[in-house]
Amino acid sequence: MFMAPKRSGSSAASLIPSEADINQLRTISAGCRACDLWKRGTQTVFGEGNVRARIIFVGEQPGNDEDLAGKPFVGPAGRILDKALEAAGIDRSLAYVTNVVKHFKWEPRGKRRIHAKPNAAEIAACRPWLDAEIDRIHPEVLVCLGATAAQALLGKQFRVSVQRGQFVASPLAPRVMATVHPSAILRSPDDETRHDEMARFIDDLRKIAQVLKHRYAA
Ligand code: SF4
Repeated sequence: MFMAPKRSGSSAASLIPSEADINQLRTISAGCRACDLWKRGTQTVFGEGNVRARIIFVGEQPGNDEDLAGKPFVGPAGRILDKALEAAGIDRSLAYVTNVVKHFKWEPRGKRRIHAKPNAAEIAACRPWLDAEIDRIHPEVLVCLGATAAQALLGKQFRVSVQRGQFVASPLAPRVMATVHPSAILRSPDDETRHDEMARFIDDLRKIAQVLKHRYAA
């Protein structure tokens, strides 16, 4: 049985036994103290989904709803992702969803908790958890959702606004793409923009559906 070490440090790497499976990793991550974000979040929000998933979606960090539920992509952004997957013809059960940072970083604004962007040190500290998830799931397709995930995984120079929806070469998976985070669609200034942004997001996901279809046929 794996115990959850409780200690501080600059990286989660030393907490991760090489033989641990995804469920054991989830259990261990609950006690992670590798950066200070554990003090702010309610709990570690580890990835979730089919352990034999063919696609991994990687976002930035859990939001308010995810922090409270302890599950990724269960709030409004998760519902946008679910709708877009359905529209693109991707079976949700083929997917595993996670984030580059596993604790909710937030700032108080009145009684509300407002999202705060994780910094480079926090992203680096948490990266071993994501690497371990990718290693165990071994996906055919990895999709970065939003700039934080894209730049963490594909390099600082990556621009989602320019390169979204394109498959890029990466050692992370046979097919790797970045697109917007569904929360960006929610922040659209009006209904028309939201509708257009949703349509573009679905178009990006349809490219993944095509890849999976060809692989099914192969
Ligand atoms: S954000 Fe990641 S590295 Fe930091 S305490 Fe949480 S799980 Fe550990």
